[in-house]
Amino acid sequence: MRTIIEPFRIKMTEPLPLSSREQREEWLREAHYNIFSLPSSRVTIDLLTDSGTGTMSTQQWAALMLGDESYAGSQSWFRFRDTVQRITGFKHIFPVHQGRAGERIFSQTRLKPGQVVLGNGHFDTTRANIEFAGAEAIDLVIPEGRDLAADHPFKGNLDVERLRKTIGELGPERIPFVILTLTNNTFGGQPVSLANIRETREALKPHGIPLILDAARYAENAYLIYQREAGQAGRSLLDIAQEIFSYADAALMSAKKDGLANIGGFFACHNDQWAEEFKNLLILTEGFPTYGGLAGRDLEVIAVGLLEALEMEYQVYRHATVEYIEKKFLQLGLPLVQPAGGHAIYLDAGRFLPHIPPLQYPGITLVNEVYLEGGIRTVELGSVMFGQNPGAGQEKPAPFELVRFTFPRRVYTQSHFDYIVEVMKPIRDRRASMQGYRIVRQPPFLRHFSAHFAPVQNKP
Ligand SMILES: *Cc1c(COP(=O)(O)O)cnc(C)c1O
Repeated sequence: MRTIIEPFRIKMTEPLPLSSREQREEWLREAHYNIFSLPSSRVTIDLLTDSGTGTMSTQQWAALMLGDESYAGSQSWFRFRDTVQRITGFKHIFPVHQGRAGERIFSQTRLKPGQVVLGNGHFDTTRANIEFAGAEAIDLVIPEGRDLAADHPFKGNLDVERLRKTIGELGPERIPFVILTLTNNTFGGQPVSLANIRETREALKPHGIPLILDAARYAENAYLIYQREAGQAGRSLLDIAQEIFSYADAALMSAKKDGLANIGGFFACHNDQWAEEFKNLLILTEGFPTYGGLAGRDLEVIAVGLLEALEMEYQVYRHATVEYIEKKFLQLGLPLVQPAGGHAIYLDAGRFLPHIPPLQYPGITLVNEVYLEGGIRTVELGSVMFGQNPGAGQEKPAPFELVRFTFPRRVYTQSHFDYIVEVMKPIRDRRASMQGYRIVRQPPFLRHFSAHFAPVQNKP
């Protein structure tokens, strides 16, 4: 098999800030050991997130110039609408400035206090918007999805048996809708199979419960279906995507992921009443329904990006980079969540640093060491981000201590990935001497963004 190469060449460059270990030590201290406080000018390779961090193609830059900034009914809107409709088949399409704007309006128009939303794994802003509307969000991912080492091609799947049982226990009238997140970001960017989407649909049908898709990574999910699901290999990604959306009543999307755009999103549905109520709140808080808080040029960029994300060469290359890092990290003996999902590699910091207790935050230790060693910014998904009742006396650790290496789309090249692998070698070798952290200062919620840390001094 031939080497899989980046299916693009570079037309414009952006300098990477290089730095010395001494500089990074000083900068990390200044940032109170919290990488969220580092200016990007002090980060060499930024793997914090894949959200809005991708590179636009020449076609997207060209489309940007076609942006029609008319307030109502701009040409850009029609191009955006037609593309979203071609992929999703929904009757009503509404642009929003990013995914959570759609979540907020959808939650506020469709949810009542006391209701329960079930899903395979609610993204954190989705959950927050559901809870803000007074409802509850429950994750029903299959058991393999919660087992870091379990080998399953679709670890993002919803547990349909538990779904049936939960509907029976709660009563269908308390469940206004079910959300499938593609891919399942909360549980490691793991894909959901077509069969699982169909079975979910079938389980909901007798109760008349609508199925909503959180489609932020719909194209990566379509590719993993193509790659891993029996009988799907002969299809185009557009064809698979169209089938995915055909089972849903509505979809929410952050275009900062598989829209290959730096900002934007949409809400789409079939139901006229839902659309009417969504539109009214959209006008109140986001903008007129033909731009929804975006510039005309943003709509153009998303319209091109949504289809580029479905190009086979692009997805083959993207997953080759994820699999490359997975393979190299495994060769180094690093404990990973497996198999790798669509947009990131998750390192199990709890297993990597077993001498650091959860409430000394092994994930923060690893994130900071990776930064000090190579100027690479990753992110902790462990007890700092997900620990319970921080600040309220008894602190409870999260079930996992993970560190995510997230891959921006079309940004880094093979030598950047080799550099990342190289940086991990000395980190592996001196892990036994690494120390934990304690929290010096923290806000009452979403503490991971702004907490101050200090290294724990184990030996006097
Ligand atoms: C990013 C994301 C969102 C929220 O979108 P924003 O554009 O960041 O507001 C919702 N769901 C999933 C699965 C996401 O990854």
